[in-house]
Amino acid sequence: MACEGGDIIRARAAKYNIQCDLKPGNLFAALNHAQLRGLERHQKLWGEYGFRDFELLDKAGLQRHVKTERYVGGLIDRKGGHLHPLNLVQGEAEAAESLGVAIYENSPVTAVTPGETVAVKTAQGEVRAKTVLVCGNAYLRGVLPELEGRIMPVSTQVLTTEPLGEEAAALLPTDLCVEDCNFFLDYFRRTADNRILYGGGTVYGGHDPESVRAKILPLMHKTFPSLKEARIDFAWSGNFALTLTRFPQIGRFAPNVYFSHGDSGHGVTTTHLLARLLAEAVTGDPSRFDVFASLPYFPFPGGQRLRVPLTVMGSWWYRLRDWMGV
Ligand SMILES: Cc1cc2nc3c(=O)[nH]c(=O)nc-3n(C[C@H](O)[C@H](O)[C@H](O)COP(=O)(O)OP(=O)(O)OC[C@H]3O[C@@H](n4cnc5c(N)ncnc54)[C@H](O)[C@@H]3O)c2cc1C
Repeated sequence: MACEGGDIIRARAAKYNIQCDLKPGNLFAALNHAQLRGLERHQKLWGEYGFRDFELLDKAGLQRHVKTERYVGGLIDRKGGHLHPLNLVQGEAEAAESLGVAIYENSPVTAVTPGETVAVKTAQGEVRAKTVLVCGNAYLRGVLPELEGRIMPVSTQVLTTEPLGEEAAALLPTDLCVEDCNFFLDYFRRTADNRILYGGGTVYGGHDPESVRAKILPLMHKTFPSLKEARIDFAWSGNFALTLTRFPQIGRFAPNVYFSHGDSGHGVTTTHLLARLLAEAVTGDPSRFDVFASLPYFPFPGGQRLRVPLTVMGSWWYRLRDWMGV
């Protein structure tokens, strides 16, 4: 199941000819030797479970993939990869519509009332359904408060440079996507039109920072000082849903009301797996869904009012560890 989400994306993009710039290979980059030893341990552990698509790199090896002095080594995951997520989701929406699915945008649900048929309310009307899947994730505020205590909205920020042609190819010559090993991590990749897309930042509670550029540019310049003069064409912020364990959650809110959320910033692949498990359960084979749903979850300490300040305080410890390189 660990690899199934990526497999679904690859198969679906091929089947429905979805143009989403799908590229293979993800690189975990270590900022210090403690992180590199951690990657080595991960490679060994994953190997014990049969996952062998990894390559450990020292500094010189890493610099064949990322032209920076910042990292001491890294680990390539050949099963990982990167893509244009908006083009993927639009391609999937078109594929679903071609199979008879009706999608209604701009009609936010305001209440879900379980029953023999489930009542789903919007500002202008009500739908009754035999089965409902609630997948509003970090944006589902106030609709099912019972679900909200399980997750915390967190915002993260991304910007892209202008198209840089050969310069972008020189910085990421093998076109892998990269994430570093800090608790507050940086992530970046080359886009199909040769921009550098750089992300990072973590705002607990899910608020947009005053300036995405002020938050992300210093991170990008630290990794790639040569980009100081590059024009920034786009910058944005969005929310993902964090769980205390960083593990996604699926379950039943009532016998015919299912939910899925909390991919903790890594949902592009996992949502594809979880969607399949939901589909299996709804169509009569809940065996894999039930295994996943039986995993324990832990609410954020402090409840709705104190979970953000308590998590911020807890995160200081991890920020200190990042800073000390342990
Ligand atoms: C800037 C940024 C960078 C990221 N980078 C990565 C990455 O590199 N790799 C990765 O794997 N993941 C990444 N993520 C995380 C990833 O986007 C999420 O994990 C994933 O989108 C979660 O999918 P989802 O379908 O559960 O929720 P979402 O994609 O958040 O979708 C929830 C949907 O529910 C709708 N909704 C909410 N409430 C209601 C309502 N009341 N009525 C009707 N509709 C409602 C919303 O409009 C939304 O369309 C990133 C996220 C952000 C913001």
